[in-house]
Amino acid sequence: METESFLEWAARRPKRRALICDIDDTLCTGFDVPIVIACKVLAQIDRSIEVHYVTARPESSRAGTEHFLDEHRLPGRRNVHFCPDWKSTHTHKADVMSRLAREYEVLVSIGDHDEDEAASHAAGVRFVRVGQDALEAVEKAWTEIVALVNGG
Ligand SMILES: [Mg+2]
Repeated sequence: METESFLEWAARRPKRRALICDIDDTLCTGFDVPIVIACKVLAQIDRSIEVHYVTARPESSRAGTEHFLDEHRLPGRRNVHFCPDWKSTHTHKADVMSRLAREYEVLVSIGDHDEDEAASHAAGVRFVRVGQDALEAVEKAWTEIVALVNGG
């Protein structure tokens, strides 16, 4: 019997499903003011889907960020990808997303900024933009995300 290499095994193994989410102006404004519909959707998401936060926030904001996630019962507090001091936020987001796209079946990436969109596209991940402009537009974007996550 041939021995399978780790890489072969890893490539064959079904990937877990994941969702990528920006934090500032996507989940909250002003650091810790929740965007209600965003928090509601994420709090209710199927637990088989791993939520990863890819954020421009630095490591020094970890405590406040984890407190926000706990307070709103949001999944994925262990999966917050903070931006290292020595990296641009653009490079950080692009690097993390391409790694996640290799490791997971990423269903969708959600953000409010061109930077989120560019990093998602570079990683080959579908992107949905949510702004804070018109409530209807925000609700429409999150409804689309729910449909994507549910296989629609
Ligand atoms: Mg943002």
